[in-house]
Order: sequence, then structure tokens, then C-alpha cells
Amino acid sequence: MRKPIIAANWKMYKTFDEAVEFVEAIKDRIPSENKVDAVVCAPALYLPTLVEIAKETDLAIGAQNMHYEEEGAFTGEISPKQLEAIQVDYVILGHSERREYFNETDEAVNKKVKAALAHGIVPIVCCGETLEEREAGLTEKKVTNQVKKALADLSPEEVQHIVIAYEPIWAIGTGKTATADDANAVCGHIRQGIEELFGKDVAENIRIQYGGSVKPENIEELLSKEHIDGALVGGASLQVESYLKLLEAG
Ligand code: PGA
Repeated sequence: MRKPIIAANWKMYKTFDEAVEFVEAIKDRIPSENKVDAVVCAPALYLPTLVEIAKETDLAIGAQNMHYEEEGAFTGEISPKQLEAIQVDYVILGHSERREYFNETDEAVNKKVKAALAHGIVPIVCCGETLEEREAGLTEKKVTNQVKKALADLSPEEVQHIVIAYEPIWAIGTGKTATADDANAVCGHIRQGIEELFGKDVAENIRIQYGGSVKPENIEELLSKEHIDGALVGGASLQVESYLKLLEAG
């Protein structure tokens, strides 16, 4: 059975003090039966402190982006080697906001996925269609293509450690959620594509999250679906009680 993973994507929200206060408040309140993997993906400059606070608890800390090079003259960037050195466990890669506003390409996402794996960091690889693509019936093609490119040249052994996040762009931050059935259908399609590329075992083991206006009111239905193994949550992950409710639904 796949263990659901509920990841908070804080984006560019919270001051340092607010971030510390949040992690202090939740670190010992992760549902004790350990039914879900709980992750907080925070702004990069808080990561060392948050990793320290969350040490020896059931909460994992993730980054929201990184460069694929080990080190070098890349002003403003953070490398996988640097994230590994402070013991960051996860990194969100290829979020639609990074693709849209920072020109991140499928090729760059692929390099980042490889770099993260080489440094023992679990990539949460995002994919998703625009409203126009959905209305034109292109959802499955777009998403499958993004996943295929993100995972190019990886071995089945590597792929099974990855988390995929299916996030329809029109559902992010808009209050519009894909219906649980629609989200499940696309996640199922992604799983099918992974089976074709990497085999049945990998497809059965890989975790596929849904993201896009997930909140305490809709998470249970989403998680009840066969192919949805967790959620990547923006807005509803910013308040302690709301995030804890999401974890309890897992
Ligand atoms: P949202 O964001 O939950 O605020 O829609 C999700 C995401 O962008 O990961």
C-alpha cells in the first residue's frame, strides 16, 4: 500500500518568526499512527532552522526549488549539494509557477530531478494543464508529456522514490478544485504512463499527489480515490489547524 504524503507548499509566504512558530506548533502533533508522510516546503532561507526544529519528529522539511548544478557561479541559486548538507528531505520541482514566471523548462526539471536523487533528496515533480488545454481535451497528453520528460533517462529504481504532484493550473489558488473523479482519472493516466515506461512495480509504488485548492473540506474525498496518494497544498497549509486537519484526513 502507498503511504499518502501531505506536503505544504508555503510559496513566498511567512516571515521567519511565523515559520518557526508554525513548525514549533505542529512538530509534535503529527498524527501518531504515522499514517501519512508530513512535509513542509518552506522558503529557502528558513530551511536550516526548520530542519533543526523538526529533527527527531515525524515532520520532514522540503525546499520549493533548487538548481541542478553542484556548485559554481550561479548568483542567487541554491544547489542540491547545499540542500543535502543541511539535511533537507524533499524538493518541489517544476511547479507551474516556476515554469510560468521563471521560465523553467521540462529539460531543466529533468536535470533537477536527477540532481536531487543523486543527493538523496526526494523530488516532488509537478505537472498540470492550463484551462485552455483542458477545454481542448489536451490534459492527458500535456501531463503525460511533462512526466515523461521530467523522468527521462532515469532507471525504474530511481523513479520509485519520486513523488509526482498533479496540479491543474486552473485549480491552483483559485478555489476551484478538480472533481475527485477527474483528478483520479488524470492521476490514473499518469500511473499508466509510468507503467509503460518503467514497469508495473514502479507504477504501483510511486506516489501521485493531487494539488489545487485542496482544503480540509475536500481532502477526504480526494484521498479516498484509488490513484490519489496525497496532496500538495498551498493556501490551506498556511494555518496550523488547517494543516493538521489535512494530515488527520490521511
Ligand atoms: P493551492 O496551491 O492549494 O493554494 O491551490 C497548490 C500549489 O500551488 O501547490
